[in-house]
Amino acid sequence: VPVIGVLALQGDVREHVAALTGAGADARPVRRPGELDAVDGLVVPGGESTTISKLVDIFEMREPIDKRIAGGMPVYGSCAGLIMLAAEVLDGRPDQRGFAGIGMTVRRNAFGRQVDSFEAPVSIAGVDGDPFHAVFIRAPWVERVGPDVEVLGRVTDGPAAGRIVAVRQGNLLATSFHPELTGDLRLHRLFVDVVRVAR
Ligand code: GLN
Repeated sequence: VPVIGVLALQGDVREHVAALTGAGADARPVRRPGELDAVDGLVVPGGESTTISKLVDIFEMREPIDKRIAGGMPVYGSCAGLIMLAAEVLDGRPDQRGFAGIGMTVRRNAFGRQVDSFEAPVSIAGVDGDPFHAVFIRAPWVERVGPDVEVLGRVTDGPAAGRIVAVRQGNLLATSFHPELTGDLRLHRLFVDVVRVAR
């Protein structure tokens, strides 16, 4: 069984632990470098990326996580977690810093100019069945992607139609929305599979 940590500094940690457990992983919160050593993959939850960024430094987790990512450890980030995995952040705080992650530019609170939170159907490439009932909460979108990034999903209608909200680069996976809040385990199952293969 793959062991998957949820970065437990701030954000919706419990929900990801529950979803990962439901998807067949041995899931546990991770706060310390020693705990990171024991996992095969990591989830960076939704929450507040500026706060997570600060706490990553306070808990001395930045270098260990960057190193594991460079070594191929799979990571899945949702919402604030997507921001933490972006090479470039627009509308971020000047001192916020992400991990050495996905070659993409994301805009924080991008949908928030229109509306704080909303729900929309989103189909994800490689995931069979109905579109996800995607929940967006002060969510970022992906504004540009580099050549190594695979676009997995976009908003299909409304004022934000066409915006990229799910991506993958190698073992790194990120979504603007929160599948951990809706009981739909398909994305967590996909991530558990990525971790299984990487192991
Ligand atoms: N707006 C938050 C941020 O900038 C993300 C919101 C969320 O994770 N639900 O980090």
